[in-house]
Amino acid sequence: MKSITDIAIIGGGVIGLATGWQLARSGKKVTIFEKEEAGHGAGWASAGMLAPQTEAGYDQKELLELSLESLKKYPEFLKRLEEDSGIKVEAEKTGSLICALNRDDLERLQRFYDFRHQLEFPVQWLKGSEAVEKEPFLSPKVTAAVFVPDDWHLDSRMFITALKTAFTNKGGVIQEHAPVTEILLENKGRKISGIKILNQKTENEKEIQVDSIVLAAGAWSSQIKGIPEDFIPPIRPVKGMILNLKAESCQLTHVIRAAGVYLVPKRNGRLLVGATSEEKGYNLSANIGGIKDLLQNAFDIVPGITETSLEEIQLGLRPANRDHSPVLGPSPIQGLYYAAGHYRHGILLTPITALEVCHSILTGDTEKLKPFSITRFLSSVST
Ligand SMILES: Cc1cc2nc3c(=O)[nH]c(=O)nc-3n(C[C@H](O)[C@H](O)[C@H](O)COP(=O)(O)OP(=O)(O)OC[C@H]3O[C@@H](n4cnc5c(N)ncnc54)[C@H](O)[C@@H]3O)c2cc1C
Repeated sequence: MKSITDIAIIGGGVIGLATGWQLARSGKKVTIFEKEEAGHGAGWASAGMLAPQTEAGYDQKELLELSLESLKKYPEFLKRLEEDSGIKVEAEKTGSLICALNRDDLERLQRFYDFRHQLEFPVQWLKGSEAVEKEPFLSPKVTAAVFVPDDWHLDSRMFITALKTAFTNKGGVIQEHAPVTEILLENKGRKISGIKILNQKTENEKEIQVDSIVLAAGAWSSQIKGIPEDFIPPIRPVKGMILNLKAESCQLTHVIRAAGVYLVPKRNGRLLVGATSEEKGYNLSANIGGIKDLLQNAFDIVPGITETSLEEIQLGLRPANRDHSPVLGPSPIQGLYYAAGHYRHGILLTPITALEVCHSILTGDTEKLKPFSITRFLSSVST
């Protein structure tokens, strides 16, 4: 078996690229193996929202803490990224307006507000007229809204391009069209020894010896052979679709959320309208019913979208674990690490994932990642 790298990262999505960049920055010899083109996984389809306060789930305390910490790390992370890539990725703090149009929405909005108020997030309750004053493109039918001022968003494609450039500038190697088919083990399955890669042209497989592996294969992370069943992350694909509109005539200044839809304005005159959530396996086709629902819901809240044009349909598979939180850090198999299952929050969680997974590989310190260990699924089976 040939050795060409110290660390192999399986998957060149936003998480694999960012983790690879951090490891390469620390002087490690890293190769990312990507089954298609690096950067073009779920991250390429994403809306780029960095919104832990809005996304806070009622029973996901640890995920919320991780998300808030990741957002805090963003400014420094983007500064380093610019130094290493030459690409300036700017995150915008526009805040979000969560809007209600009817009685059901209003009840949900009240619960949304109360929970965040309890957590001492600086949320503001607005009457419909106040919301329309803040964002004149909103429908006059908006009855109330909550303003979440601390939400950010960024251009996720520019972010991913910068990560790819920074990784290679720091000496990292990307092998594209090189799917990893199997993780190889030794010492009675207690330690990794290498990986098996398929050459798509010749259909031959080759084995490569490595010291460490980071599994960052997004929605496909449960599909790679060789991992003992107990340690396969229970990840499934959840398809998401976003409509990318050319919206010069409808320039929103905040992220807008309402029942079944969000609208995210981007600097280049684009407006992202998302997103569907579909449990359809690995099928990535654009479903007409989903397009209709997104447009109808968007029109109800921002009627001016009828003046926009459809530029692109963005499709991606969110990697969802059983509990919708990621699996991060070492596995019980020596040399195998996880950075997978980020579901709806992979862009938000990129800095903390890359920094902490890198830290755990270099130092063995896994304190911060403990709540996200693969072993949490083991205990739920045995109890
Ligand atoms: C419509 C939509 C909107 C979203 N909006 C947001 C948002 O606003 N904010 C936010 O924080 N998150 C958002 N997300 C979620 C975010 O995009 C994901 O959580 C994130 O992209 C996960 O990153 P990843 O690198 O794990 O997976 P991916 O980006 O999917 O990358 C995984 C990579 O692994 C490769 N791969 C798979 N199997 C193998 C193999 N065997 N060998 C080699 N390579 C392999 C794939 O080809 C792929 O390139 C959104 C997602 C979608 C779909």
